[in-house]
Amino acid sequence: MRKKTFPRGTHPPEYKHYTEGQRLEKLEPPEKVFIPLNQHFGKPADPLVSKGEEVLLGQKIGDSDELFSATVHSSVSGKVLFVKEHPHPLGSPALTVIIANDGKDTPHPDMKGTKDPFSLKPEDIRSKVRDAGIVGMGGAAFPTAVKLSPPKGKAIDTVIINGCECEPLLTSDYRLMLEYTKDIINGAELVRKAAEAKRIIIGIEDNKRDVFELFKQKMNGFPGETALLKTKYPQGAEKNLIYALLKREVPRGGLPFDVGVVVQNVGTAKAVWDAVSSGTPLYERAVTLSGPGLKENKNLLIRIGTPFKHAVEYCGGLKEGANMLVMGGPMMGLAQWNLDTPVIKGTSGLIVWEEEAFPEEFPCISCGRCVSHCPMGLVPTRLMNYSRHGYYQEAEKWGVLDCVECGCCQYICPAKIPLVHWIRVGKNAITSMKRKKKS
Ligand code: SF4
Ligand code: SF4
Repeated sequence: MRKKTFPRGTHPPEYKHYTEGQRLEKLEPPEKVFIPLNQHFGKPADPLVSKGEEVLLGQKIGDSDELFSATVHSSVSGKVLFVKEHPHPLGSPALTVIIANDGKDTPHPDMKGTKDPFSLKPEDIRSKVRDAGIVGMGGAAFPTAVKLSPPKGKAIDTVIINGCECEPLLTSDYRLMLEYTKDIINGAELVRKAAEAKRIIIGIEDNKRDVFELFKQKMNGFPGETALLKTKYPQGAEKNLIYALLKREVPRGGLPFDVGVVVQNVGTAKAVWDAVSSGTPLYERAVTLSGPGLKENKNLLIRIGTPFKHAVEYCGGLKEGANMLVMGGPMMGLAQWNLDTPVIKGTSGLIVWEEEAFPEEFPCISCGRCVSHCPMGLVPTRLMNYSRHGYYQEAEKWGVLDCVECGCCQYICPAKIPLVHWIRVGKNAITSMKRKKKS
């Protein structure tokens, strides 16, 4: 069978064997959870609770009137200790609801399921998805209800379910696909109905042939197919996946719905099924804990708001010499500085390294490897130089905003230049200049 793929990219060592055989275990929630009100792309939610208030498991504790936002729910039952700033995995401290867990997990009465989820109208599914605070769980945390409501004139024909998990070391999606196959397929069908699309394609890389075969069998009766993709990084990036499966190119600055597609991660599909079938909002997610700096490697189902420290201790703690913890995968993940920082909706992995975190940088030798590997067809060395020296207009002209921060260029660079760091600096500067102009 011909395997589908996209041009350029790279294939770093996978190291999935550390955890691919580890079943998902439920991690007991900690004594205190720290639930940030901004865990998604868009405006942070406003708090709905205050200090001293009793809350129930699954209770809504944050919401917003903005379209680009997401609701936030309590992941335990207990008492609100504070609503205040706390370390956040994306960098600056953020407004966080801190709850003392009473250990009872008393469910909120709003958590009610639907008898026949497939009989719901598209708008009812979208409303349940929004109410459950579901966001893209591959890491981007884009509000799912927004993705399912394309603007007028942009009809969706295909829903792609992203089962690539192309980042090295991560296997939480792989375990979800093995252990919750039917829930993911049911969720995909609800996504298809909500987006009013004709078909589903479940894209799986060929390093996960067992789940590919499993999905092929269980998709029977659903309007869709399972597609095998070549194992290559970043196969799971939306634009690459759409090209690999449908040969459609999302225009520069555009979104998947510009080419009639919605892409959802397998974890998101499962969350949609949970929300609609049993009324369970997004307060728990699958996370891989792996890497040479960790005593035991595991796949865990972790309540949102659980401090990294609690999960790391469950894995036997850090090895002597561990010197960096990254949230996400090794290619796109973000280095963390505080183990009190909590797991959020976009936390796919916690990776601990024991090697040199910041290798010595050498001058560019103009080898062109970063250019020949960039999946977006950009010139990373040029983008880095413009951003590093403050020529932001030039950087924008050369497409810096199209960079998906996949890290291929930096991984492949023999001079060890922190290309992605400088590209991010340029992107952030341009975005904040645009925001200032608007306001
Ligand atoms: S420039 Fe951006 S999109 Fe291209 S390889 Fe580098 S990080 Fe990836
Ligand atoms: S890969 Fe590194 S050394 Fe080669 S051209 Fe790009 S930035 Fe320069």
